[in-house]
Amino acid sequence: MHEFVPQDQEVLADVARWIGERLSGPPEVAPHRSHGPHDGRAALPELTAEGVGTAAAWETVRDEVLPTTFPTDHPRYLAFVGGAPTPAAVLADAALSAASVYGGSELEAGAVVAAERAAIGWLCSAMGYPSDAHGTFVSGGSLANLSALVAARHGRTSASGRPPGVVVAGASAHSSVRSAAETMGCEVAVAGTPDAVLRAADVEAVLAGLDPSDVVAVVASAGATNTGLVDALDEIADCCSSRRIWLHVDAAYGGAAMLAPARREAFAGIERADSVTIDPHKWLFTPFDCAAVVYREPAVARAAHRQSAHYLDAVEGDDADNPADYAVHLTRRARGLPLWASLLANGTDAYVDAVERCLATAGYAAKQVDTSPVLELAAEPRLSVVLLRRSGWGAADYAHWSSRARFSGLGLVTPTTYAGETVLRLCFVNPRTTQADVDMLLESLETLLDERTG
Ligand SMILES: *Cc1c(COP(=O)(O)O)cnc(C)c1O
Repeated sequence: MHEFVPQDQEVLADVARWIGERLSGPPEVAPHRSHGPHDGRAALPELTAEGVGTAAAWETVRDEVLPTTFPTDHPRYLAFVGGAPTPAAVLADAALSAASVYGGSELEAGAVVAAERAAIGWLCSAMGYPSDAHGTFVSGGSLANLSALVAARHGRTSASGRPPGVVVAGASAHSSVRSAAETMGCEVAVAGTPDAVLRAADVEAVLAGLDPSDVVAVVASAGATNTGLVDALDEIADCCSSRRIWLHVDAAYGGAAMLAPARREAFAGIERADSVTIDPHKWLFTPFDCAAVVYREPAVARAAHRQSAHYLDAVEGDDADNPADYAVHLTRRARGLPLWASLLANGTDAYVDAVERCLATAGYAAKQVDTSPVLELAAEPRLSVVLLRRSGWGAADYAHWSSRARFSGLGLVTPTTYAGETVLRLCFVNPRTTQADVDMLLESLETLLDERTG
């Protein structure tokens, strides 16, 4: 089954054709092909002892499996946080799979490690981190947050003689922060109020009741997923540094907005964080999965994460630059390579333009909502998140419209809760989302009510 037979060449050509078609225009979602969470168990062929062959398997993937998805780079995928990879990134990613690169160490990965290091270096310089800051790419923001908190706790003992046991997190912190804390056996002390900027005073109020030696870290958000809010990083950094407490900034979604000069100010202080999470697979145009965790002082993270075993002796030289050493992983995909290849291909200015385009589209959407007789902003747009309400609608109406939009192939837009109220949330991370796409969605929101009341 490892032999690459002549018929496989034809499959390869078809895969290449399919990828080309997929990249050359906005993806289409055929009405009723997209399956929801409970109807995704389509009638797929059974696995058999003999197998159907590479060509038939590919045809099934192409015709039966992939068309049931709602791709995140669809221009009207505005739910959660989408992702719209560049062709340069997709092609490098596809080749990476074929190259069988073990991305954990320099020994096998050669210049791939240097390419990933350069991509990490670009992220660090965007944040204003020192030139010796470093980190690695992991599967997602969740693993990045866990890795950072493990590094924050490494080698420390609280006054009680045990490792520190409390993670202080803003009320808008991503769910993965709580999950990381639970994985580590830590408690979470919540600071501030949901859907509001976390300020130093909120953090101080929580720290006042804690023994600083028992605090693993303070976690602030730079772009809360639900609202796009950026916490008051500079003053929180003051509060942490005066108490010698580790500051982790979760910029998984929002960090990309730092590239836009007009937005940079909001991130002031991020360069003082001990560690930062930023996900290129969200708003920096790489395929899933690609998230970065970076450390101002990488030696601490390396001490926390480097695994040791006899069979690893060959890769354990003290000056080795091994991406495995900076997170909770060992074997890893060199998932930073597609980001690097795309930066090389497109240049860094194109990233600034693409991020600014998303911000401008969010601004356009907010303006259209504002002038609509039946739509209303639930909050001023922050970064590229727009929260809106439809007059007269309750939770069931939003859910009904959202599932109709998905099944008809119009778009993927889901409701959320903001300040205790059900609202619709639009998150713009695809530079190919146009004003016409926004108009289409907003018009549908307006006409559906007419249909139901008329
Ligand atoms: C998406 C997100 C995460 C989790 O990232 P995954 O890549 O989904 O694991 C963490 N923090 C924030 C702020 C996010 O937006």
